Amino acid sequence: SSSPTPSAQAVLNPAPATQARKHASHKGSHGDVAVIGGAPGMAGAAVLAARAALHGGAGRVYVGLLDPGAPLLDALQPELMLRRPETLLNQLDGMTVVCGCGGGEAVGTLLPELLSQASRLVLDADALNAVAKDPALRMLLETRGQSGGALTTVLTPHPLEAARLLNTDVHGVQTDRLTAAQMIADRWGCTVVLKGSGTVISTPGAVPRINPTGNGRLATAGTGDVLAGLIGARLVRDTTAFDAACYAVYTHGWVADNWPPRQTLTAGELARALDA
Ligand code: AMP
Ligand code: MG
Repeated sequence: SSSPTPSAQAVLNPAPATQARKHASHKGSHGDVAVIGGAPGMAGAAVLAARAALHGGAGRVYVGLLDPGAPLLDALQPELMLRRPETLLNQLDGMTVVCGCGGGEAVGTLLPELLSQASRLVLDADALNAVAKDPALRMLLETRGQSGGALTTVLTPHPLEAARLLNTDVHGVQTDRLTAAQMIADRWGCTVVLKGSGTVISTPGAVPRINPTGNGRLATAGTGDVLAGLIGARLVRDTTAFDAACYAVYTHGWVADNWPPRQTLTAGELARALDA
């Protein structure tokens, strides 16, 4: 007799982070990532995601800060190219976009353009909340999902953000995380990373994965932004969005599991350690 189809699989230890880069490659070969977010008082969220994208191996990383008063240089990470978001909207061709990251309500106004133009898109936090609120944005997300794989989308909700997308409450999500993640993935034709202890990764037509790495040390401000940035970087390197999400979630948790026991782990340190 055949064994039953497994309802989920664990994410397996993926290939080592330090894959050799092709000798003849140049920065354009490793992908351009644009992080869009950082409303007033939240610029750090976007910068953390951008640092994670850089350490995740992206060739060039841009940041579009929604705070008009924000500085246009990260002095500690001068590799990042800080721009006004409107500027980045004019250069989306070939770019992987990570959107959310402390973006506040303002991020919603950029989403129609991003949902229709960005070939690879990660939506986190306020970008997800905007989609949950606005039926027109949900339509655009659905249209992306019907592009037959030409447009790739990864959604990274925590349980409350997932609850808003499903029009339920956190309890409804947490009592059956596999079903909740699969419902979002199937409804919008995208890859879903339902965060929290035992992060679930789902995509239409595949057995979902449960991530075995990570611990309570990740329960600190900015770690979700770091994950979104790392997924953005990996979307260029991995063959599928599902592989990219599995790799990123596993590595993000692995760093936390291997951090010195008596040393605090901040989101900035997590971003820097991703390539360790
Ligand atoms: P956010 O909820 O957006 O701030 O993201 C927090 C990040 O930390 C997500 O990637 C979570 O999966 C991770 N995280 C938080 N708490 C835990 C935990 N107790 N175990 C494993 N991962 C966690
Ligand atoms: Mg978050």
